[in-house]
Amino acid sequence: MKNTKNTQNKRCGNCGKMEMKLTKTLGPFRWKDFSKVTLVHPIELLKCQSCGEHGIRPGDAKRLDHVIEASIRSYSKEMVETILAREECSQIDLAARAGITPEYLSGLKTGSRTSGFQTFNILKMLATDPKAFAISDPAGSLTDELMSSAKDNYEEMLQKLV
Ligand SMILES: [Zn+2]
Repeated sequence: MKNTKNTQNKRCGNCGKMEMKLTKTLGPFRWKDFSKVTLVHPIELLKCQSCGEHGIRPGDAKRLDHVIEASIRSYSKEMVETILAREECSQIDLAARAGITPEYLSGLKTGSRTSGFQTFNILKMLATDPKAFAISDPAGSLTDELMSSAKDNYEEMLQKLV
């Protein structure tokens, strides 16, 4: 009898071997600006047993797109919750530090919005490094430094004038 799905006879697009098998995988996958997204829950895809390349069948792309986006939302939500709990700061404060609007942050916290790659990386930095959170304060020491440097420049300028 003929294999109905014919999956074993699919050729690997990378190495050309006929060793594609349905395998549960967490990736990582490239998605939009993200170079590597590891899934939260595994997805079943054809995978080359020889080189590890994934084979995307019709219908897989949409399914994969959905689980990758859900994973990014889940990571963002977790990072936002981690930072808020650790720093005991308000969502408005965190949004200012991350350079995003409070509405956007709220969407990330509830898992209803997907962060872009840049915001994702800022959140990742703030979530993993408490020092990064400290220096990210828009009204903090960085401003003081800029102020004193501006003052130096001003004084230098005055000295040249007189
Ligand atoms: Zn292969």
